[in-house]
Amino acid sequence: MATPALMHNYGERTLTLVRGEGSYVWDDSGRRYLDALSGIAVCGLGHCHPAVTAAIQEQAGALLHVSNLYNIPAQEQLAEKLVSLSGMDNVFFSNSGAEANEAAIKLARRLGNERGLAVPKILVMQGAFHGRTLATLTATGNEKVQAGFAPLPEGFLRIPFDDVNAVEEMAAAHDDIVAILVEPVQGEGGIRVPAPDYLSQLRKICDAQDWLLMLDEIQTGNGRTGKLFAYQHGDALPDVVTTAKGLGNGVPIGACLARGQAAQLFTAGTHGSTFGGNPLACRAGLAVLETLTNEKLIERAATLGEQLLVELREALADCNAVKEIRGLGLLIGIELDRPCGELVEWARQEGLLINVTAGNVVRLLPPLTMTDQESVETVATVSALIQQFAREAA
Ligand SMILES: *Cc1c(COP(=O)(O)O)cnc(C)c1O
Repeated sequence: MATPALMHNYGERTLTLVRGEGSYVWDDSGRRYLDALSGIAVCGLGHCHPAVTAAIQEQAGALLHVSNLYNIPAQEQLAEKLVSLSGMDNVFFSNSGAEANEAAIKLARRLGNERGLAVPKILVMQGAFHGRTLATLTATGNEKVQAGFAPLPEGFLRIPFDDVNAVEEMAAAHDDIVAILVEPVQGEGGIRVPAPDYLSQLRKICDAQDWLLMLDEIQTGNGRTGKLFAYQHGDALPDVVTTAKGLGNGVPIGACLARGQAAQLFTAGTHGSTFGGNPLACRAGLAVLETLTNEKLIERAATLGEQLLVELREALADCNAVKEIRGLGLLIGIELDRPCGELVEWARQEGLLINVTAGNVVRLLPPLTMTDQESVETVATVSALIQQFAREAA
């Protein structure tokens, strides 16, 4: 039982992890677990990657924080690297995913205000997850996330995900829309992978309407899907991209990247963060990007992700409870025909960390450094548990 000194916003936590290395973590009794969740897509390089550990140890001994009143060389280097790798023009650094999305929402609002709109609207999707701050929980398409927090800010219009017609209908019906905010693959919503041309269709509409295309790559970014950013699987360049989870390999950091007119909307004093882009977080981010390149981990995410999909589909081919196995790179979902939250505990008893999202989707977010042997183990354990679950629930 957790101490009563903590607020009750998280569910009951029964596992205490005290050490990690690569794809493994150890609990306080010394038991080892294979981690196929990576702290929810955060530790993409595995736990305690030596390059990140060395970078933050060195920075901790030099300078941790000075505030954004001063130049921060690591922040500038990380911004330049992200800009050159993403095709964006500039970056604002935050400490979390929700804050990166807040920056994106503020960019869209600012554009709407410049256009003289009283209540500029952002199109958001059913099943979306964008965070827990007031604006981002409003953008989130899950009533449970919103329940009990009225009044919610205005300025959002919701449509079905992966539905280009719905966007066109909104464009015809409203003249105060300024942006679309969408995940390239919905993560919390159940690993929903849209049609391959979805983003390029959205790009066309945004060009025609002069809207911003804003992509939430907080979960899909930093190599997870087999490209640095998921939009790089296609040819559509967004106007705004947010990312966070994998960027610091566990050190809190978020980023809002922008291009073109979106990159010019913030002027001095319009936005800020005390901690955002501090030397420690940015050194971690630099070490992550360097390691992704040095160890060819983005390519690895693509090939291992393909391999996992093939092996899972093979192992679960005869399992009627499985509705679909889908994913992009190392963002993988196994949708069952019934709620399956107990699989998290079953897997844990077998020494494997996984997660269930949207009630009935087993989610795998292994580290990009996972070995073939570890991935074979993951498939064997997960598929055996799902087979057993299907038998017992039948
Ligand atoms: C995790 C996540 C967020 C929120 O990030 P926090 O760091 O928890 O604020 C937003 N969008 C997506 C797509 C996410 O996966």
